[in-house]
Amino acid sequence: MAETMRAIVKTAPGPGASLQEVPKPSTGPGEALVRVVAASICGTDHHIYEWNEWARGRIGPHIPQIMGHEFCGIVEETGPGVSRVSEGDFVSAETHIVCHECKTCRRNQYHVCLNTRILGVDVDGAFADYIVVPAENLWVNSPDLPPDVASALEPLGNAVHTATAEPLAGKHVLVTGAGPIGAFSVGVAKALDAARVYVSEPNPYRLSLAGKMGADHLINPSEVPLRDAIMELTGDGVDAVLEMSGSPRAIRDAISCVIPGGHIAQLGLPPGDVSIDLNELIFKGVRFYGIIGRRIWETWETMSQLLGEGGLDIRPVLTHTFDLESFEEGIRLMEEGACGKVVLSVS
Ligand code: NAD
Ligand code: ZN
Repeated sequence: MAETMRAIVKTAPGPGASLQEVPKPSTGPGEALVRVVAASICGTDHHIYEWNEWARGRIGPHIPQIMGHEFCGIVEETGPGVSRVSEGDFVSAETHIVCHECKTCRRNQYHVCLNTRILGVDVDGAFADYIVVPAENLWVNSPDLPPDVASALEPLGNAVHTATAEPLAGKHVLVTGAGPIGAFSVGVAKALDAARVYVSEPNPYRLSLAGKMGADHLINPSEVPLRDAIMELTGDGVDAVLEMSGSPRAIRDAISCVIPGGHIAQLGLPPGDVSIDLNELIFKGVRFYGIIGRRIWETWETMSQLLGEGGLDIRPVLTHTFDLESFEEGIRLMEEGACGKVVLSVS
């Protein structure tokens, strides 16, 4: 009988997901089989779990599907033609599978590949004992990187990509939203030698996480108007905003708090159309960057350097660990916002 493994599977349209025994996947040319050691839960997984409109449209056509995309593990087997990784390597994965053929790939802009497929979204994911991925998507970690940290490199890469839109050294930086990625970005901005990091976050638990990551000023925008607080602290506004919430209000705050000539790096995904004063953006001469994914592989190289000699420690944000069976407890915590990054310990 074929070998099986445990996996969290989105089996049917509608809320929920279930832990099942499914066939263990096997490698084809260019692929690697990874034994998953730890995986972490992303907001995207939550969307797939709750089955929102985006999930219905994107995942609906190809369920059943194994969930999850943030993970680390040990390469157990490689398919024909793989030289990038070897059996026994401790790896994390770039979750965007790119085509190498489209116009943007041919411009080395892989992060905006026109044919991007995402692990756990468009193909089977990592909330399982094993995952098969294109070997070219694997990043080999130092064997002594803690597994919970290695499981979260993909979202940490979002923070690093956002924080490196322009140099932050010596700058006053506002982070709006201290969910896991915003909280990571506080540590990243500090490791990149930002002069001061200000954080705006309405959830007190998460605001305190930003403090643990080294933020200099914590502001609850439900208690004080953010612009007033920022102007009082900086005089003329911050040099850079890392927008990590997607909240329309935070996006408007970003525009009003940035100094003329500064920049806003927008990672947060708003729920729909956002009304902003575009004139304010233009007259202030603000550079506005849309940030998607990670630059392949520049962001990973910077991240690795920051985690090494850069002294970046993201463990304060990795607040909870569950086993695969208790995955739904992690989802519930995320719904309550009473957590940083939730990690699943798999093997
Ligand atoms: P999250 O939802 O866990 O965190 C968002 C945080 O923003 C929450 O803590 C929330 O309390 C806070 N917030 C809400 N309204 C706010 C306001 N007015 N001002 C300040 N903070 C406010 O999300 P996450 O997993 O940390 O991800 C951050 C954002 O990045 C999300 O919007 C996510 O969808 C997006 N994202 C984008 C990419 C990309 O490639 N562009 C990749 C991953 C995630
Ligand atoms: Zn492409």
